[in-house]
Amino acid sequence: MSAVATSRPGPLLRTAIGRLRRAGLATARQDAERLLAESLGTTRLGLYLEPDRVVPPDALDEFRRLLDRRARHEPLQYLVGWEEFRGLRLRVGPGVFIPRPETELLVERALALLPDRPARAVDLGTGSGAVALALAVARPAVSVWAVERSAEARAWARANIGGLGMGERVRLLAGDLWGSLAGHGLEGTVDLVVSNPPYIPAEQLAELPEEVRAHEPLEALDGGPGGLAFHRRILDGAPAFLRPGGFLLLEIGEGQAAPLGELAEAGRAFEAPVFHRDLPGIERVLEARRR
Ligand code: GLN
Repeated sequence: MSAVATSRPGPLLRTAIGRLRRAGLATARQDAERLLAESLGTTRLGLYLEPDRVVPPDALDEFRRLLDRRARHEPLQYLVGWEEFRGLRLRVGPGVFIPRPETELLVERALALLPDRPARAVDLGTGSGAVALALAVARPAVSVWAVERSAEARAWARANIGGLGMGERVRLLAGDLWGSLAGHGLEGTVDLVVSNPPYIPAEQLAELPEEVRAHEPLEALDGGPGGLAFHRRILDGAPAFLRPGGFLLLEIGEGQAAPLGELAEAGRAFEAPVFHRDLPGIERVLEARRR
């Protein structure tokens, strides 16, 4: 193969896909295409529209670097530097949890409960800012307080809030769940508390795919023994902040609906919770209304 032929998308992709497949990646084709597109400053569609373009040497170097990292199972989103979440392009990288498609269900429920009227929403453990920003963008009258304990994650959230021009309506607070919210005059006034807290049972962390376990921040995943440590603290603290009739929405893991339903009802602050299933049919979102 001549040097010229090897620096065109077709042959480059064929080699790259083979390499990623041998590395055990089920998404070899789309990963290779996205990495090449990113190296060229275009999109996957752009690659197809210009199949005969020459890949310049600097883009080729970049592509090879990214390919090496992907072959070591670094998350694709960290390599390209962003993930799409509900149509938003969010910046992500090492140190922040990558937004997941199942969390779009959490946002969908939140939007169903929040009309576009002045209202207050709190996002606990905002990570990249995905949930807080999806709400703020879709509901221009709503103010959002986004809490995050990890300084690294907050840096990504700050970049995303600024990048989307949402600094006026999404306030980022440093803290571990409720502590940082005191002193903002929010007690008894919040219309919606939403959270996708860490909920993988500590004893199951070792079973996570290596791609997640070895690269994403474990503090965004580790829900303590049994996995419900954060959900408990959120259920305990939410009544003080929610207004009567306000809602709590929590993303939950497989098998967590029954114990969390009991916990939510035990405190008497909430009506019987409702659970929403994700696409694969797992009860994924707890919705509880403050009495
Ligand atoms: N759904 C995520 C995963 O499986 C876990 C999210 C969380 O702990 N909040 O990677």
